[in-house]
Parts: sequence; structure tokens; C-alpha cells
Amino acid sequence: MRLKLTRDLIRDELITRVQDLSGQSLLQCYQCGKCSAGCPVVHEMDIVPSEVIRLLQLGQLDEALDSKTIWICASCLQCASRCPKGVEFSSICDALRQIVLRKRMATPRVDADDVSAIMVSDAPQMGVVGALRKLNG
Ligand code: SF4
Ligand code: SF4
Repeated sequence: MRLKLTRDLIRDELITRVQDLSGQSLLQCYQCGKCSAGCPVVHEMDIVPSEVIRLLQLGQLDEALDSKTIWICASCLQCASRCPKGVEFSSICDALRQIVLRKRMATPRVDADDVSAIMVSDAPQMGVVGALRKLNG
């Protein structure tokens, strides 16, 4: 895959947010791969931890957000204990998950006006409100 890197891409506001939320400096990682090699659940991941960090270093936030990896990481801290640069990948995953969840909340999946009148009159009010909250975050 060929990437066209720009300063704006690499310094993207959301990439900075990942660093702020995680407390980790992405540029500390020099891609030695020790984190990926020692992760006990790496076989379940679609992108290994060091690759997720590389994507973020290159401004490829969407690929990182779409990865299964951020939901698979069990926060066991094995990678952090092996990292010569002290990078805590689980904190980066936490930050990425927060961004995904906030994005979902910002996009309601059900409009209250679309709930049918029958549903509103027949279903328990608490149930309707609860379902709307659940579906819309
Ligand atoms: S914290 Fe996550 S990425 Fe790191 S070793 Fe544990 S499961 Fe793997
Ligand atoms: S162990 Fe640390 S420096 Fe090495 S690839 Fe993983 S995060 Fe980067």
C-alpha cells in the first residue's frame, strides 16, 4: 500500500487526542516488535500491536479504529513490560475504543420520530426510552 504522507495527516487532531487520552507518546515506539511478539492474544488480532502504533504514527487513524485488535487487547500489560521504550499499548487501545464509542454516540441510529405511535402507546414508556437510549448511546 502506498501512502501519501502529509504533515496535516500525521499531526491530525484525533491522533493528538489518542496521545492525550492514552498518556502515551506514539513517536516513542521504534517498531522493534517486542510487544507483538509477547502478546498472549496476538493470534486473535487482525493487526498486531506494533502495526497499530505504526498506523497511528503515519496518521492512518481509521485503519486503527476499524481493527479488531483494539477490542481484543486484554490489558494484561505484557507488552508494556517488554517494551524498551515504555510504551503502554493497552492505554492506546483504551483511547481508540473511547473514540469509536464517542463517534457512535454522536450518530444516533434511531430517530425518536420513527418510533411508531402503536409502539409508543402500547409499550411501557420506560422500555421505549430505554431502547432509544441504548440504540443511540
Ligand atoms: S496489553 Fe493487550 S496488546 Fe499488550 S500484551 Fe496484553 S493483550 Fe496483548
Ligand atoms: S515494544 Fe515498544 S518500541 Fe517495540 S514495537 Fe512495541 S511499542 Fe514499539
